[in-house]
Amino acid sequence: MSEEKEIKEIKVEDIRKSAEEKKCPVQRALFYIEGFLEGPMCGKCFPCEMGTYEARIRLDDIIQGRGSERDILALRRIAEVMLESSRCKKGKDTANFILDWMKSDVFDAHVAGRCRDMECISFVEYRIIPHKCTMCGLCKDACKYDAIFGEKRKSLKGGYVPFEIRQKKCVKCGECIKVCPEGAIILTATTTGNLVGV
Ligand code: SF4
Ligand code: SF4
Ligand code: SF4
Repeated sequence: MSEEKEIKEIKVEDIRKSAEEKKCPVQRALFYIEGFLEGPMCGKCFPCEMGTYEARIRLDDIIQGRGSERDILALRRIAEVMLESSRCKKGKDTANFILDWMKSDVFDAHVAGRCRDMECISFVEYRIIPHKCTMCGLCKDACKYDAIFGEKRKSLKGGYVPFEIRQKKCVKCGECIKVCPEGAIILTATTTGNLVGV
């Protein structure tokens, strides 16, 4: 069986199931659309082909923090046109998936700068909770981007301050949070400042 034939046999329902593993509906929709474009979308009819390419651009903009109300309206319009005019069930199913994921106000929240599920890295940042930090330095050792500032505590020596993450250098890879033995590193929402898991 050729590689091309295998790709065409990927079912929209399978892509949807994988997409559902994402908590954030916007991430879910982008994951699905990328899978659909790579596999089942055959390009034989205009509403489905153009719609999915445009949906990918709009979803990426929303996830990257460049989205606006116009993107949400455009996505809804794209899905409605696909539902009405797509030539086969795959395009219509895709439209229904998008409309379903857009039912809550989560897309509007992203446009306002919030990802409640903390999956869109444009809307989160890593921070160290000062009173939990024991200045062990493990996070600094783990950070490949030199984004953590601080000095390891030595016994019988005072004057240490808790470690700190320099947001401008942080690429949000999440390596530091994995190694902190104190649970002192958390994800916070960039706009609201809500602390998660404190
Ligand atoms: S609706 Fe069906 S025929 Fe049209 S581009 Fe999409 S997958 Fe192909
Ligand atoms: S790993 Fe945790 S406790 Fe250790 S320095 Fe970093 S934030 Fe502080
Ligand atoms: S998230 Fe990654 S880049 Fe940012 S401080 Fe932690 S280890 Fe460094």
